[in-house]
Amino acid sequence: MKKSGLNLIGVKEFNRALILQLISTSSKTTRNNLAKASKLTSMTLTNITSELLQQNIIVESDMENDVKNVGRNPKYLTISPNSPLVAGIWVSKDFLFGILSDFSLNLIAAKREEFRPDETPDTILQRIWHLADHLLHLSERLVLGIGISTIGVVDTLHGIIKNVTNFFDIKELDILGYLQPRLPIPVYVKNDMQAAALCEMYYGIGREKENFLYIGLTNGIASAIVSNRQLVNNLTGSCGELGHTTINFDGPKCNCGNRGCLELYASVPVILSKINEACGTEFTVFREAMEYCKTSPKAYSILENVSEQFAYALNNLINIIDISTVVFGHSAFYLPDEILASIAYTVNQISIFKNNRTIRIFKTRFEDNSALYGSVCIVLDQLFTGKITI
Ligand SMILES: [Zn+2]
Repeated sequence: MKKSGLNLIGVKEFNRALILQLISTSSKTTRNNLAKASKLTSMTLTNITSELLQQNIIVESDMENDVKNVGRNPKYLTISPNSPLVAGIWVSKDFLFGILSDFSLNLIAAKREEFRPDETPDTILQRIWHLADHLLHLSERLVLGIGISTIGVVDTLHGIIKNVTNFFDIKELDILGYLQPRLPIPVYVKNDMQAAALCEMYYGIGREKENFLYIGLTNGIASAIVSNRQLVNNLTGSCGELGHTTINFDGPKCNCGNRGCLELYASVPVILSKINEACGTEFTVFREAMEYCKTSPKAYSILENVSEQFAYALNNLINIIDISTVVFGHSAFYLPDEILASIAYTVNQISIFKNNRTIRIFKTRFEDNSALYGSVCIVLDQLFTGKITI
């Protein structure tokens, strides 16, 4: 619970940020909808929307005839085509992906660059900088800030990757320290699972649910928690290492020092190699292997095993955090729907809360790009909570 009060200036910024958030995250909204959602008085609301209209951050348009109410003329409020923008870069294990977006996640530009096999900390930092600089020159519109959504354990406060595995022998990378002096706009750095969860919070499942767990399947398995519409561990940047939950005490030894971690049974490379070994295939692209599983009973049975292991690890986590909505993203987007249903079924069978609530599992609507959209959401989160203003 927040204990500090808000002074009058703070209240004004907070209300303005809230209205901007509501307009940005709804496809079309009206002053009536905003009043209901924000519970602000009509005078306060009118002051804020007038200011946003005057600054050309939002625009109003007429409703289509068929939805007009008789005797009234409500207008839709949306983000202006000339509004400021936000930039973001997703640092994945294999590539950089940069985007420029407006506040409603409409992409203005995108550029992807693959890493070469001989990258070093210096070349990676330089490439992030050059891509950021390139993005900033793609539009005449003001860019408020750039978010870096990256693999690894991230010290969010100092913008440093503190630990990362299988990434060109790099252990630490001071992204903020390198980028900030070289760019004319604020830079924010966050772990990619946390960034993806922010994206879900503002533009995905979070529009209906205040509490949820985001699970990302990649070379490992990690998670991020949103509780009361706040990202848990927002500053320390720690992400739930679901992949290192032990599901088999007699299992093989893991890099983390424990035995039988979920990651040894259910990460993307492990699932691919199990399918290839059992079926004599040579899949390297997870999406293609998942398509194949729909037609091959042998490959599908491997996913059924994985779903069981996932369910037990997930249950361990859910028992602790008391959350009943789970969003599967990153490469988990490509898991067949029946496999997600099977994970949900098992969790609900074994959950200690089974008589009180039903655990529901959803797929992200951002395909395997939640972390990409999440990069700009790092900046939007600052804007929507009044930490940066325009
Ligand atoms: Zn482990």
